[in-house]
Amino acid sequence: MMKVDEEKCIGCGKCLDDCLVNDILMVEGKAKIKNKICINCGHCIAICPINAVSTTEYNMDEVKEYNEEKFSIPADNLLNFIKFH
Ligand code: SF4
Ligand code: SF4
Repeated sequence: MMKVDEEKCIGCGKCLDDCLVNDILMVEGKAKIKNKICINCGHCIAICPINAVSTTEYNMDEVKEYNEEKFSIPADNLLNFIKFH
């Protein structure tokens, strides 16, 4: 289950714009995840600028900040990972 910390949410709308399945609403200036058709992709966690989104699906302590140098993956490796998983 994905959840938004309403105290932190600044209502920027980035998570709504990026949710592939449109499972996020804006209610009184705060994002609200319906968790109806969520596919647990985690993109709302990644896109939130103030880390207001979390999940019960995995340990949030293991979520790392994006770092372009450390996260660099050769395109062929990524494609094969997607194909074979
Ligand atoms: S985890 Fe993915 S599908 Fe679920 S609410 Fe977030 S962006 Fe949408
Ligand atoms: S991206 Fe974060 S701050 Fe912006 S609306 Fe979503 S939960 Fe709120």
